[in-house]
Amino acid sequence: MLRSHTCGELRPDHVGSEVSLCGWVDRVRDHKGVIFIDLRDRWGRTQVVAGPDSDAATLAAARAARSEWVLRVTGRVGARPEGTTNPKLATGAVEVVADRIEVLNEAETPVFQPGAAELPGEEIRLAHRWLDLRRPAMQENMLLRSRIVKIMRDHFDELGFVDVETPMLGKSTPEGARDYLVPSRLEHGSFFALPQSPQLYKQLLMMAGFDRYVQVAKCFRDEDLRADRQPEFTQLDVEMSFVEADDVMAVIEGLVQRTAREILGLDLPLPLPRLTYDECMERFGHDAPDLRFGLEIVDLTPLAGECGFRVFRGAVEQGGRVRGIRVPDGAGRFSRKDLDGLTAAAVEAGAKGLVWLKCEADGSWSGPVAKNLTDIAAGVRDRLGCQPGDLALIVADSFAVTCKALHTLRRRLGAELDLVDPKSLNVSWVVDFPMFARDEETGHWAAMHHPFTAPKPADVDLLESDPAGCRAIAYDLVINGSEAGGGTIRIHDPAVQERVFHALGISAETARERFGFLLDALRSGAPPHGGIALGIDRWVMLFGGLDNIRDVIAFPKTQRASDLMTGAPATVEPKQLADLGIRVVAPPKPPTP
Ligand code: ASP
Repeated sequence: MLRSHTCGELRPDHVGSEVSLCGWVDRVRDHKGVIFIDLRDRWGRTQVVAGPDSDAATLAAARAARSEWVLRVTGRVGARPEGTTNPKLATGAVEVVADRIEVLNEAETPVFQPGAAELPGEEIRLAHRWLDLRRPAMQENMLLRSRIVKIMRDHFDELGFVDVETPMLGKSTPEGARDYLVPSRLEHGSFFALPQSPQLYKQLLMMAGFDRYVQVAKCFRDEDLRADRQPEFTQLDVEMSFVEADDVMAVIEGLVQRTAREILGLDLPLPLPRLTYDECMERFGHDAPDLRFGLEIVDLTPLAGECGFRVFRGAVEQGGRVRGIRVPDGAGRFSRKDLDGLTAAAVEAGAKGLVWLKCEADGSWSGPVAKNLTDIAAGVRDRLGCQPGDLALIVADSFAVTCKALHTLRRRLGAELDLVDPKSLNVSWVVDFPMFARDEETGHWAAMHHPFTAPKPADVDLLESDPAGCRAIAYDLVINGSEAGGGTIRIHDPAVQERVFHALGISAETARERFGFLLDALRSGAPPHGGIALGIDRWVMLFGGLDNIRDVIAFPKTQRASDLMTGAPATVEPKQLADLGIRVVAPPKPPTP
């Protein structure tokens, strides 16, 4: 090794010993001819000193050193003089008095200083990711990720799971997103799909008798990216044979508890709470609710259906719902402008508007439509449990729109009113999802999870008669209002699988063409099986208290699914396209400056 210690290692115990350190120049200061260099590596920072007592070459090297140069320093550990120690730094009580400084490599003036407190814009960080990853905060994130993955691997290893790699070049596995396609050179016009998940492979591994499978799996989904999504992401993918939902959930609960203990020092009581999908939608308007605060949704439909206010009654007559949230002490906290902001948020979520009411000292309501609601004023107050000084926010619309709008408001208010303790960890299960949801674009039924999910035994016969009422044996893990994992018990009966394909509008021929291998395998002795996948990127964010998914991925993509460092995606040589039998119709766009 070129070094005897790392830059985070030296303590007062080392005073007097001869050491060598290697690292990057974080900062250089010249104090009346004495040069102080903070040398940085991934373990920490150590102060190096070269002064008039140093030999000329050492002093010259110290003077020449610039930010991000790579040095090897040999010297003696000294105690820092009184008054110059730095209690914030693990090595802050000592310094290395340099005998020799070797420049292992020079560096051009960096685009930004990894050691500086101030951060450049994210685009600059992404374009110079190697510099960004030198920042201690980013290194901590990557180390946290590595620790979390190790906990996962240990947990499943101890439980007898087998780590099996599944292909990247495969056939489309539907998880509801667009596929990334890879053209075949040998069969022009044919394409591989990168896996949206290893779903079918892991089921086939159960049919092959592996019993317990785990994989840290890269998955690819070509979606319009939301802030917390990436086109390629990593899942901890799990499958088990001869199990019911409770068995899969128990294995994951053990992992959550272990991760909370080892990463956060928190003792998470088990079993984790479970909510049904219907309950989530009723109480919180969303299937991954943040349960760290209240502001629950209250149904006002029975009152509203009979009231004189046309907007409310009309919504109920059209089969919709009138639902609201009580914001304790909200009446005085929100200006007219704030309320306009909340209204705009509700409208953006699809609502036609937002009714707000302030509960006055005498219990009466004030607000733009308060006078229209006199007949149900007391009823609304009682149902919401409003006290003088409270604010009520009410949406009248289809059930889905009330969910979306009130969920949006609830989440926004939770943050604005500081209702969330950032240190708290809330982990729960959401169960009993519907099998199907209407695809908004096509109007067809689509699988809520994926088409291989088993219906609840009691609901199997609804597959044909009432698809909307058919529930799945599905379970999502929700941490602090984010979906941190999801899984299902799978169909192991080929006849049921065919019925589900049919319910999804997949004809027998298409099913055979796309999933013939699965249907054959299901007919070859398939064990009952089920599993789950945990979003590793999301876990690292949640356990690290981070809010940007790109900060937990070494080389992430932007929201436009491009890599600002390498410039991917990029055009390729005409010869490469010719080999693949591909002609590009749209001319490539000029690069954006
Ligand atoms: N394949 C599913 C997903 O990626 C997870 C599972 O059902 O195990 O979301």
